[in-house]
Amino acid sequence: MHTSSRPLHHHPFQWNQHPSLSSPSSRLSFPNYSVSTLLISSNPLPTLHSAAVKTTATKVLAMAKRSFPTKDNDFASSADLQFESPLKIVEYPDPRLRAKNKPIDKFDDNLKKLVDEMFDVMYKTEGIGLAAPQVGINVQLMVFNPVGERGEGEEIVLINPRVSKHSQKTTLFNEGCLSFPGLYADVQRPESVKIDANDIRGSRFTVTLSGLPARVFQHEFDHLQGILFFEKMTDEELDKIRDGLQGLETKYEKSTGLPRPEKIETRKRSKTGVGFGKS
Ligand SMILES: [Zn+2]
Repeated sequence: MHTSSRPLHHHPFQWNQHPSLSSPSSRLSFPNYSVSTLLISSNPLPTLHSAAVKTTATKVLAMAKRSFPTKDNDFASSADLQFESPLKIVEYPDPRLRAKNKPIDKFDDNLKKLVDEMFDVMYKTEGIGLAAPQVGINVQLMVFNPVGERGEGEEIVLINPRVSKHSQKTTLFNEGCLSFPGLYADVQRPESVKIDANDIRGSRFTVTLSGLPARVFQHEFDHLQGILFFEKMTDEELDKIRDGLQGLETKYEKSTGLPRPEKIETRKRSKTGVGFGKS
């Protein structure tokens, strides 16, 4: 995710709305991390055959079934996690932004290297969050640092994240996206979310995010479901970036020699035609 070029530190809206963000590092140090809340604690991604699952309650088994693939071949393979450095940002309408993102069950050095490279490209492009499909790797991985500066704030790595709760209260925020260079528009989202995810070592943890971290998380979480930020906009907001979206579609055709895999034009027609759409 991107914010406008104005530095976060001087963004009056954020200060007024989220005074707690004045200390991003304390906010993001996951003080809520509580082992007792973890249904799947140190076992990163138990399969149905693992000892941990056998010895725990049926509830956990049900949850494992619901939350994680039960077939090993649903997890990302080594080939899925192969990358070339430096990573390059994939721009709309590249189909990799819409592909299925596989969960990760190998927490190895290759994964650490990928995470490092993702932070590198995120800082270089002045982003504050980045999801793996945005660098062409279709796996359940996101990185973010709401401060957007190396060495400041906190670097967050979330693998196989899920949302367990979100606030009824929503806020409006001007979002940008590294896969949509130069395009910004307001998006309404819940103010806070309770999530769980694996960390880089594979441990499962739970945390509640609010304010900007919650905003960045939800934007990146959408990427992991193949959802792009313009789909969360009102029609009025979407109209503001419609030309820009078409510009990116044309750029895609010119640079790849392929027809655009999706069209914002078509989307609008079907939305008005049928009378519903993702909002
Ligand atoms: Zn994005």
